[in-house]
Amino acid sequence: MSGISHEADITIIGAGVIGLAIAAQVASRRQVYVLEKNETFGQEASSRNSEVIHAGIYYPKGSLKAKMCLEGSAMLYELCEREGIGYKRLGKVIVAANETEVDDLERLLNQGKENGAIGLKMLSRQELEELEPKVNGVAAIFSPATGIIDSHALMKYFITKAKNDGAEIAYTSKVVGIEKVADGYEVTIEDGFSFKTSIVINCAGLNSDRIAELAGIDIVEAGYKLHYCKGEYFSVGHGKNKLVQRLIYPVPPKDEDVGIHVTLDLKGGMCLGPNARFVDRIDYAVDSSQKQAFYHSAIKLLPFIEYDDLEPEMAGIRPRLQQPGEDFRDFVIRHEYDRGLPGFINLVGIDSPGLTASPAIAKHVGDMVDEA
Ligand SMILES: Cc1cc2nc3c(=O)[nH]c(=O)nc-3n(C[C@H](O)[C@H](O)[C@H](O)COP(=O)(O)OP(=O)(O)OC[C@H]3O[C@@H](n4cnc5c(N)ncnc54)[C@H](O)[C@@H]3O)c2cc1C
Repeated sequence: MSGISHEADITIIGAGVIGLAIAAQVASRRQVYVLEKNETFGQEASSRNSEVIHAGIYYPKGSLKAKMCLEGSAMLYELCEREGIGYKRLGKVIVAANETEVDDLERLLNQGKENGAIGLKMLSRQELEELEPKVNGVAAIFSPATGIIDSHALMKYFITKAKNDGAEIAYTSKVVGIEKVADGYEVTIEDGFSFKTSIVINCAGLNSDRIAELAGIDIVEAGYKLHYCKGEYFSVGHGKNKLVQRLIYPVPPKDEDVGIHVTLDLKGGMCLGPNARFVDRIDYAVDSSQKQAFYHSAIKLLPFIEYDDLEPEMAGIRPRLQQPGEDFRDFVIRHEYDRGLPGFINLVGIDSPGLTASPAIAKHVGDMVDEA
């Protein structure tokens, strides 16, 4: 446990994009330790996602997801521009494959506009054809503010800023115990080392419910129990990446998040994904038997894709608060003083749009820390 003395001010559990963004936010005014169980930062959800800067279309008005996505997207573009972090404001189209999907598309457009998503516009079949001639569809929403970002470079920026402001990061430091003591918490690491901290910020992603439980919270009663929702990606080869210019999304199917879509990376590489499959354990292998389902889902909008273009690429797992078929659940970002845990801040269920929202979440948590 290099660098950590027996007393700490703020301890952040988890060096994903959320923990690192918060460390960068608070390290200039407080002493910060970040504990990470892996050998380096950003090995889980934060490096296993679509790297899309979302515009704020999909989330109910007034939700934290809508608010933080809108704020975070503006902050990210500004940050990328200022700090030279790779990004592209590519734009995206959400495409209705047939007339029966047009009502859902209109509902989505209205929700996005109510949330304040910038520049949304309904496209006719002809307008879609002018924008994306190889895409099949009867109508589409055009979102000019959607983009992509180099998430690794973003995390590097947060970590450098946090360290320059004095934060310490300890890798291979899995938190296994949290006990409430006078004026703070006794945190125990797997190797047996323990230390006292005034504030704990739980950013442990897929383990954030267990960290809350370690602190004594009944996670079932609190509604914090997480379910693992796997998202797999298949790359699209044979030069097909040249055939679209933007991110291409379907009208979201029921129970399937935003639906399997076309992602493009900063080098122009093209993938399909992610699907949404609830699983029992954390395993990042791609199940190649999913290829058929990806192919059938893709050809509705992208008739140029052939079965042999697809190769398994990677997978991520979403920390999901809702089980299959359950209604929308918002991010949990909560100071637990009313559960007898002053100075304990939980972030649970930070699934999409967590990457987009990261700087806004960090600002929000920074304000909570100032009040705590
Ligand atoms: C398939 C998929 C696609 C997505 N696409 C997008 C997208 O396009 N745009 C977008 O905005 N968002 C997207 N997201 C969401 C986004 O990736 C996440 O919201 C974000 O990365 C969450 O960051 P995090 O830091 O909370 O979690 P993580 O990155 O998972 O970090 C949590 C960290 O905590 C550590 N940890 C866990 N337990 C302990 C412990 N006991 N002790 C110490 N350390 C611990 C872990 O090792 C890990 O490093 C997607 C997510 C997935 C899975």
